[in-house]
This record gives sequence, structure tokens and C-alpha cells, in this order.
Amino acid sequence: MSSGAVNNKTQSNGRRPVTATEFVIRGRPVSRGLAIGNIVCLFGDNRQFYRTRIAPPDVEKEIERFSAAHRRACRRLERIATAANSKGDNFASIFDVHLSILEDSSLKESIENAIRQHLFNAEWAVKIVTDSYIGKYRTIPDEHFRDRYIDVEDIAEQLQAALGGGRNRVHLAPGSIIAARELRPSTLAELAANPPAAIITETGGWTSHTFILAREIPAITGLRKLMRRISSGTKAIVDAYAGDVTFNPTEKTIAGYRSSIEKVGKFSASFDKFPAGEITTLDGRKIAIRLNFDVPSSFHKAKKLGAQGIGLYRSEYLFNRFKGFPSESVQAKAYREIAKFAGEYRARIRTFDLSVGQTVEYSARRENNPALGLRAIRLSLAADKHFRTQLRALLQAAYETNIDIILPMVNGVDEILVARQILEEETDRLSKRGVEYGKPRLGAMIEVPSAVVCIEQILEEVDTVLLGTNDLVQYVLAVDRDNEGVAGWFRTLHPAVLLSLRRVFEAAAKASKPAIVCGEMAGSPFYVPILLGLGADELSMNLNSILRVRRVIEAIAFEEARELASVLLSKKTAAQVEEAADIFFQKHWAHLLSVGTSELFRA
Ligand code: PEP
Ligand code: MG
Repeated sequence: MSSGAVNNKTQSNGRRPVTATEFVIRGRPVSRGLAIGNIVCLFGDNRQFYRTRIAPPDVEKEIERFSAAHRRACRRLERIATAANSKGDNFASIFDVHLSILEDSSLKESIENAIRQHLFNAEWAVKIVTDSYIGKYRTIPDEHFRDRYIDVEDIAEQLQAALGGGRNRVHLAPGSIIAARELRPSTLAELAANPPAAIITETGGWTSHTFILAREIPAITGLRKLMRRISSGTKAIVDAYAGDVTFNPTEKTIAGYRSSIEKVGKFSASFDKFPAGEITTLDGRKIAIRLNFDVPSSFHKAKKLGAQGIGLYRSEYLFNRFKGFPSESVQAKAYREIAKFAGEYRARIRTFDLSVGQTVEYSARRENNPALGLRAIRLSLAADKHFRTQLRALLQAAYETNIDIILPMVNGVDEILVARQILEEETDRLSKRGVEYGKPRLGAMIEVPSAVVCIEQILEEVDTVLLGTNDLVQYVLAVDRDNEGVAGWFRTLHPAVLLSLRRVFEAAAKASKPAIVCGEMAGSPFYVPILLGLGADELSMNLNSILRVRRVIEAIAFEEARELASVLLSKKTAAQVEEAADIFFQKHWAHLLSVGTSELFRA
């Protein structure tokens, strides 16, 4: 097997033919494991969909499904266009153009024909037809008309979104491997009931929400031109230790991997021998492990492994599940259940960490730079109706439970003061309504540089802080955490990141307030000794990281970790820090590496 090698000739259309020849593409593993299965390709950007073939008797039903979606999309655009026109918005004419393209009978007929003649599912028919329109527009020499292709892309999105509502649930066959250019968290959430055996994508970083959610599924990203080189049904082996995906594997290759899969199975079974209870380093430093909660079953398992309470609940999961803001009572019920699981060790529930594009009309509020835009606490405060609802739900859930309300992406004390004021107002409102409520504590995510700089002031205003290292690395280094093109600059061990972390741990210790690390760093056995050495004593992680991390904590001495941190803090570049960390691990903790677990180190 050679990495990236394909023996086939490239076709005139630039695509590689799909044949049964074995070939390997190498990417970056983002969630460890091995899997063998058949590829299911997933398409679309904002709305993702599968390509399926419909049975001939179902053609008319599928056409009606498309027509209903088309009507919904037209009505929605009419509403937007009317609103924009009545306000005199200068971009109102765009929506009129969109509407005229959407209502163009030849577009609609072409899509219906694609369903009827080729038995495509509606989503795929929309894609094929709109792609052909886009292709035609792109070749027009006149720049003004050429740019119409962007409008068609927008319309294609609207149609896909409208189709989403009535979409049948896709049941993946056991052992399916999802292949996509990029996978959306909401798509993954839809697959929760029958998860894929593995995920392979062209883009997406280690800390992207999709891969955080997928932590228990072997996953590889950074697979260049993946979607051009494969099609649904292709057999593949995903080796998410090495980062290799073998397509069309021979029987010999499959046999080799099957024996590796058995070995990995035995290895993870041996993890079950860990006793539950207090977790300490060899020299007795107590470290609290908490759970980044997603589903209730994860909590019961985590508790058995020694996890104490919930270190982070990303309430956007609820938003994704309900495809919008859930009602006050739905939220209150969900938060209460989570708080009950957590018990005396508390549940840290983060308010909605959403970007504006996720919540309002996509075409009307496109941001050039969503990571720096109207999102997280900014969005909550800008449209505080939903924030107030969420706070009321949290207050009610906090009745006789232990909840910390965590504010995402604060950049200083300002947002905390405003949020606290709103919290007080909503407490009054509940009190007047005669509703039972509790007294949640208040906390802040520390994930932007200004919050690190102002950490002392922030700690005066909150009861706890959560270190969101995923965003902290992104914002300290100004590197998009989801952009494959700059993945090489996402250096978790950059000196600026280490200094930021140390600053927060020191300030929190001085203020005697907890600082919980809840980004992906906390779940990595390679980074945990470094975090401990810098001063961390509370780590919150996904279920399947707990045993690996626990094993490392219990096998090292705090004093050694401190020595490691001081060595790393003396380095000037990320490369020097990484090299020094590798050397230190080899010298001091070779016993952790010698049991065949070297692949457990690094994410
Ligand atoms: C983080 O930024 O590290 C974090 C925990 O939050 P999220 O990954 O949801 O942004
Ligand atoms: Mg974050």
C-alpha cells in the first residue's frame, strides 16, 4: 500500500474513475479507532443530505415532497422579500431575484424530471440540476451575469433546507462509514440513533464541534479530494491511529486489520479494571475529572469511572435537537435532569453558544467572519428574549439542585455584569409568578485573550471559570479551528497558549475559585501532564477520554509534571515546546509508552 497512490488514469473530466483497485489516502486522525465498512457519501454544505435511489412506485410521492418543499421555499422568500421591501432595505431586490429564479418553471420541471427519469431522491435531484445551472452561469463572460451563480447556490440551499423538514430518516446499514467534505454537528446529531462505524472528511479540525461530538467514533480528517475519489458503496478500512483510509482493500489487507481490531478490543477491555474513587497523582495531588455531558447514558458510565459531576454541558445540543430555541419548560426539564445526574458535584450548563447564522435567515444575515461576529454571549445579549427564557429555565432547574450557569465567550467583566442584571430581573419575574426556583452560581468561559488578560477582574465577578482551550488556542493564535488550510498553525503548545493557561490557573488559585479545563486538551493523555504541571486540578472531558486520562494521572507524579511545565515554559517556539515535551515523556514516562499505547499520546 502506498500513501495517496492510485493506479488509475485520470479521466478527461478530471475525476478519478472508481475501480476496485486498492488505494490509500492519508489524513489526520481526530478520534482514534479502527473500522471496516462501506462508504456512504454525504453531500451539501449548510444542509447535508444523502444520495439515494427511490423505488419506481415512490416517484410521485417524491415529486410531491419536492413540490411541497418548493412551495415552502417560495413562501419563505416572499415573506423575506416583502419585509425587506417594506423596510426599504437596499438589498431587497436580491430577494426578488431569488424568487424569480425559484419560480422559474424550467428549474422546477428539470428537478422533477431528474426524480422521474433517474429515480434520484429530491435532494440529489436539486443538487444535480442547480449544479448544472451554476456551471452554466460560471462560464458567462459578463461578470455581472456570471455572479448569478451565487444566487443559484443560495436558492439550492433554500430548497435543501425546505426539503429537510419532511425528510425521511436515513438508516445507515451497520458498519457504514460516512464520507463528507465536512460534517455538520446537526447531521451527526441526527445519526445518534444509528451511528456510523467511522467518519472520514476532507476538512474539520480536532476541536471542531463535529469531532467533539464524534469522539467515540473513529474519525479521520484532512483527506484531500476525498469526495472526488470515492463513491457510496466503496469498501474501506479506516485506521484512525495511523490516519490511513484504505479503499477497496484486498482480502489480505482486510485480514491484517481484523486482527488489529481484535487487539484494540482487548486493550480497551483492560481499561475496565480501573477502580472507581478519588483520582490522585503518584504523589497525592487530587485531580477532579468531570464529564463533558452529551447523552444521559454517558453520565452513568462516567460516574463508574470516577467522574465527578458535569464540567460542561453545551446547551446548543438542545437547540440542535429541537431545530431551534426550545420552550422554557422543555429547557427547564432538560437542565433539571442534567443537574440531577450531577448531584453534589454540580452541573456547569453553558448558555447557548451559537452564531447568528445558525439562528436567523441564512441569506439575510451572512457574516464574513462568524468566529469574531455576533455569537455566544454577544448574541444572547443582543436578542435577549431567548437568553431570558434560557435563564428562567435554568433558575427553575436549579431548584434544589446544583447548577453553575456558564457564559460563553465573555471578553471581560462587561457581559458578566449585564448577564447578572438580567438574571436578577428574571429571578424577580419567577418570584412574582410564584414559581419555584433555585440560586445557580455564575461562571464564565475563558476562551478569548482579553478574558485571560482581565482574569483577576473576572474572577471577582464569578464563582467559577471554565477554560475553553479549543477557542483559546484559536483566538490567542488567530487561527481558525475549523480551517484545514491553517491546521498547521493551530499549535496547542505554542508558548502564548502555555503562558495564558498558567496565568489563569495562578489567578484562580489565588482567588480560591475553580478553573476547570473543558476543551479537548483536557481529554488528551499527552496534554494532561502539561496541564497538571501548569496548575490544573479539574479536567472535564468526553466519556471515552476518561480512562486514558485517569491512567496517565495515576501513573505520574505532580512534581514531575511541574518540572515538565517549567521546561516547556522556558522554550521560545511551539516546535521547541513540542520537542521538549516528547523528550520529557520518553525520559520520565517511558512506562506509559511501553505498553503499546504510544498511539494514545497526542490527539
Ligand atoms: C472550548 O472552546 O474549548 C470549549 C470547550 O467550547 P466549544 O468547543 O464548544 O467552543
Ligand atoms: Mg468555546
